[in-house]
Amino acid sequence: MDNIRKKYKTLMYGSIIIMCTILSIIYIVFTNGVQSSYRKYSGDLILDVKKSFLKDTVNNIIIMTEQIQQGLEDEYSDLLVDTVKYLKEVYHVAPEDFLANMERYFNNNFNDCKFNIIVLNKLNSKIVYKNESLIYDDQVDSILNVNRIKASSGYYEEDSCGPYYIFIGIKEDYIKNYTQENLYKKIHSFKFSNHSYIWVNEIIDFEGGDNYAIRLIHPNLKESEGEYLSTNIKDIKGNNPYLVELNGVKEKGEIFFTYYFKKINSDEISEKLSYAKLYDKYNWVISMGVHLDDIGVYIDKTDLTNQVLMKRMIRTIVMFTVFVILVSLSFVYFLEKWYYRNSNTYLKEEIIKDPLTNAFNRRGAVKDLSASFQEYVNNNENSAVILFDIDDFKNVNDVYGHDVGDEVLVSLVSTINQNIRNTDRLYRWGGEEFLLVCNGLEENNLSDRLNRLLEDVSKIYYGDGEKNITISVGASYFKEEDTTFESSLKRADMALYNAKVNGKNQFCIL
Ligand code: GH3
Ligand code: MG
Ligand code: MG
Repeated sequence: MDNIRKKYKTLMYGSIIIMCTILSIIYIVFTNGVQSSYRKYSGDLILDVKKSFLKDTVNNIIIMTEQIQQGLEDEYSDLLVDTVKYLKEVYHVAPEDFLANMERYFNNNFNDCKFNIIVLNKLNSKIVYKNESLIYDDQVDSILNVNRIKASSGYYEEDSCGPYYIFIGIKEDYIKNYTQENLYKKIHSFKFSNHSYIWVNEIIDFEGGDNYAIRLIHPNLKESEGEYLSTNIKDIKGNNPYLVELNGVKEKGEIFFTYYFKKINSDEISEKLSYAKLYDKYNWVISMGVHLDDIGVYIDKTDLTNQVLMKRMIRTIVMFTVFVILVSLSFVYFLEKWYYRNSNTYLKEEIIKDPLTNAFNRRGAVKDLSASFQEYVNNNENSAVILFDIDDFKNVNDVYGHDVGDEVLVSLVSTINQNIRNTDRLYRWGGEEFLLVCNGLEENNLSDRLNRLLEDVSKIYYGDGEKNITISVGASYFKEEDTTFESSLKRADMALYNAKVNGKNQFCIL
């Protein structure tokens, strides 16, 4: 038993150690794997979010740029339409005074260099009016001039009245400057977190090189606004951000790229992710960037929380697994113990049983008799000790064979066992000799009991069913002078001898 316990203890501790080792290995491999993929995944995710933010913001700036121009167009389009309408009326009312009235009107109301105004006499293509800032090339004809003026106007109105052609437009340069000024104010007033800002460069030469672009708006380096840029400029790590940007916008109109740049309001230089998009109307590159060093900090922070959660989860799994192992091993241990106890009981019974008749054997008889005798000594509870022997059993074997003899022995045991009380016990004492011990059988009932025994046995037939067996019986009780149960056995044996001598098939009590 101790061995089994020891075996199970070793098995249990062994399993726990093996399990813990496996779990530790799984934990290390798993957490490392999860951690690195988590870090990568989080990093990529944050980068995607940042990219979307940059792209959306730059696109919104482009929308805003177009809104600024739309606002300007809205402001001037009515004026241009109304002016042309007015001049046509002037002509209608007094054609002969038209030129004088028209000139006065323009001089009074359009005395601004943002306009392109030209009035031609269609009959001879001669200029009858042009505003001061309008550039007119006398070397080429009026159609070419008008086409050039149209091209340099953001929007315009043109019409004829009588022999005159009237053109009024807003100079494209004016619209561009107006847009740039408004954009400048807006971009400088924007506030973004994480050292972010928007900047605008104008590309002069798409081939790159020195002076390939001019820095128009740059909230981080205000003092350098208006300066020329070169694609040869390198960052501290040797990257050519301007060249990369130029090639990107030339190829696809937009680009995401990284390089090292100074943070706004600080001298710190760190890696930056930027998005640049070409606004091709003015060859402007509108860009926005974010520094990437906060990604690492953010990942470290979330990774820490993640690790705590994972450790908690693994701990729970380990505890649960150990618990399951302990429960399983305990279950197996108790099952084994139960099985052992049951098989032990069976073995113990086997040891004290006679294999042929299944009656208790002499070993069992000795054990029980000494217990009964002890009971008599302690509590004066007496037992009848009854020995009996089959009469002339040798004949049975001799005449009918040993097997029949065996069958008789089995029948005898079975018959007697069916007719005894729970407190009575039958033993095969040896050969065809049996012992019946009846605990608590009163002496005055003994004769009746023995007669019944003789009667029960006499009903056992063998052979062709014609012959029955008989037994001779000797009985006794424990007596005060007895020191062991053997004395009572000796008396019973003597009584049995007497019964045989007296003619068999009878009992004798001593
Ligand atoms: P008695 O009336 O004087 O007892 O005569 P008996 O023939 O019964 O006695 P004896 O001692 O001469 O013979 C006993 C026989 O019982 C001899 C032996 O072969 C037989 N015997 C003993 N054990 C077994 C057994 O297990 N099976 C069979 N078939 N016979 C057995
Ligand atoms: Mg006999
Ligand atoms: Mg005998």
